[in-house]
Amino acid sequence: MHDFLPYAWFKGKCVPFDEAKISIATHALHYGTAAFGGMRAIPDPSDNGNFLLFRADKHAKRLSQSAKLLLTELSERYILQSIETWLKANKPSKPIYIRPFVYTSDLGIAPRLHNIETDFFIYGLELGDYLSPEGVSCRISSWKRQEDCSLPLRGKISGAYITSSLAKTEAVLTGFDEALLLNSQGKVSEASGMNLFIVRDGNLITPGTDQDILEGITRASVIEIANYLGINVIERPVDKTELFIADEVFLTGTAAKITPIKQIESTLLNTELPIMNKLRDYLISITENKEDKFSNWITSIKIS
Ligand code: PMP
Repeated sequence: MHDFLPYAWFKGKCVPFDEAKISIATHALHYGTAAFGGMRAIPDPSDNGNFLLFRADKHAKRLSQSAKLLLTELSERYILQSIETWLKANKPSKPIYIRPFVYTSDLGIAPRLHNIETDFFIYGLELGDYLSPEGVSCRISSWKRQEDCSLPLRGKISGAYITSSLAKTEAVLTGFDEALLLNSQGKVSEASGMNLFIVRDGNLITPGTDQDILEGITRASVIEIANYLGINVIERPVDKTELFIADEVFLTGTAAKITPIKQIESTLLNTELPIMNKLRDYLISITENKEDKFSNWITSIKIS
């Protein structure tokens, strides 16, 4: 069981987490017609009573776009203002994961997105490491990542996570930590909830946004950091065999941060990861608001 923060944002105000309840007939529960965000926030290490949100504007933008893909409207401003009010009510003292959620809230049946009410809530939980920072073993899933022509993959749509769930469980039940999914073209797409990078001959390579990935905010941040640090970045299709021979392979995501892959199927990968380490150290430093160059990625909110 997670350590949930005491208050949820529900129907436009903060209410105790246990009182934020929805009906079993809620449309989104039946049809996956919802979308969510996932953000991290930490107490300011300089102990000034502030909380630091990483790339809050980007997360709000993606959620607003996800809502649009579900044919509803949710403004970035409303998301950010609600998160701020909600955070001040909760006054967390540890690193947290914030889950804003938009969904079709009508009661009743029939899959659709027209003539339907939607609603929005937020809750949060304390979250340390989601995956082991020492590295994970991965299985190449028998489940393929969906195609953008059958599901709007640029949104973080709830229904899409059936594939992630099947892939993750298949991996874990067969002795691995995480799943890597190929797309319908047989190219590497991403993991169950993270994007993937490899390093070959000093180049940082990642599947492009045309490879049926979720357009990850950590991924985009890592690309920007790499450019800033003078590391050559290439976005292109990645073949399965490249995973086994790459110098470094790692995952990026809000929950997973930057996590090395130490094994894929039965192949052990390099454990010397100089480029990943450089990027990881820099990313951590940015999230702690210690890099002036990237201070605009951080939203600092006074909570006490
Ligand atoms: N892919 C999927 C399917 C995800 O759920 C996530 C987590 N949001 C990511 C990639 C990584 O995205 P981000 O860096 O924005 O958290």
